[in-house]
Amino acid sequence: MVHLKGIEEQLSLRLRLTLWYVLLLGLTMLMFSGYVYWRLQHSLMTQVDASLEMVATQALVNIDTGGEDNSMPSFQNTEEMAAIVDRLGETNLIVRLVSPTGKAWAGLGYYRNVPALVPKRPGYDSVSRGKHVWRVYSFPLEASDGSPIGWLQTAQSLDSVSHALEGLREQLYWAIPLTLLLTGLGGFFLANRALRPIDRITRTAHSISATDLSRRIQYVGPRDEVGRLADTFDAMLDRLQAAFERERQFTDDAAHELRTPLTILKGRIGVALSRPRSKREYEGTLRDLEQEVDRLIRLGTDLLFLSRLDQVRLFWHWEKVDLSGLLQVIAEQVRPIAEGKGVELSESIDSGLYVTGDQDHLIRLFLNLLDNATKYTPKGGQVRLEALQDGRDIVVSVSDTGPGIPSEAIPHIFERFFRVDADRSRETGGAGLGLAIAYEIVRQHNGHIEVQSQVGEGTTFVVFLPVEAPWQKEG
Ligand code: ADP
Repeated sequence: MVHLKGIEEQLSLRLRLTLWYVLLLGLTMLMFSGYVYWRLQHSLMTQVDASLEMVATQALVNIDTGGEDNSMPSFQNTEEMAAIVDRLGETNLIVRLVSPTGKAWAGLGYYRNVPALVPKRPGYDSVSRGKHVWRVYSFPLEASDGSPIGWLQTAQSLDSVSHALEGLREQLYWAIPLTLLLTGLGGFFLANRALRPIDRITRTAHSISATDLSRRIQYVGPRDEVGRLADTFDAMLDRLQAAFERERQFTDDAAHELRTPLTILKGRIGVALSRPRSKREYEGTLRDLEQEVDRLIRLGTDLLFLSRLDQVRLFWHWEKVDLSGLLQVIAEQVRPIAEGKGVELSESIDSGLYVTGDQDHLIRLFLNLLDNATKYTPKGGQVRLEALQDGRDIVVSVSDTGPGIPSEAIPHIFERFFRVDADRSRETGGAGLGLAIAYEIVRQHNGHIEVQSQVGEGTTFVVFLPVEAPWQKEG
């Protein structure tokens, strides 16, 4: 079995298809031929049996079963008997009268060629001598007082039946292997034709390297299984290329984001060192530098966090999270910052809201949104946090009366490193990763996030989180 499996693995698909095809066809032909052979044999034998019985019936009326003088039974020489004798000549049948011990008293046709047979019961038997077989029909003869006196037997040689069957066997011996050979060749040709495009796809796929994802199979042909395979492959390459481009863009942006604060640091250090300065001046410069370093640390942490978010969800700590309690705590945490800025924070959080999720990530998500709202809302403005259950979703919204987001920026707002106004953000310390992180966290929770904003009026971020965990939903 192991050996066979090894061989099968080495054979090409086209050869395996052909072999299976030939094997199945061979089995079908064998079964069909067996059936035809059996039917022919059966019908020839039925014919022989029927004519034996018919001749016996006709002969029976022309038999003289012998009189009181104990004479042996004999055929009456009537016209009918003569007709039977004529027909016997044509069909190679014999008729004979035999004693209870099997001795032939009288007969018509070549009845002496047929071996003697003492039947055990009335009906059909077969006897053979050498290679020749006869079919014999026996009918009991009785005297007028009902006592058994012998048998009437009609018999026919089965040579013609054997010949007919042998002829069929010979034809099948040739026809089956020949048909299998022809269909095998045809099957191989067809399999070859059907699989040739796959070879082409394989060659193209081979020539696509990780650094050049721009090549496509661009299959020209019918949209059958192979066509769809090629399309799927091209679509996968599209996605891979897009992902690859995104990664590259991300690395570029990250490098750029790192370089800007580092250049500022370098500039400040250069200015500070350009001439001797007082202790106060050095302290001031160091405090400025500390701010830039903090920004860099934040950026590093955010980048690390984003890269971890992209990793498999299995590493997340999933649990049932009391969202009502969690939001309340976050609001309390943000309140002093908001009040310090002169922004009013109000909330309406329904009690008993639960989701299955990663608590740390959920804290990060809502802290980012509330932090942005308070950060971008000017003095005297308001920030509102609301949470409620809507069907199978928990809906959390964070709205503010800040400057709003221009409509052309909204489609990009969740992109990594995107900032509406780079200068504005720079003052407030963001690198444009906060919303990208929020988006990713919501996505990993199988939820979605929306934004509505009007320039000059304010912004609302709405987060929808399913009540069930992602795996509960699938079940
Ligand atoms: P950042 O760390 O710069 O705040 P985010 O990803 O959190 O980055 O936000 C991206 C951009 O979206 C910000 O630069 C800011 O211009 C805009 N933005 C985010 N939240 C708000 C808001 N509540 N009101 C107005 N603009 C906002």
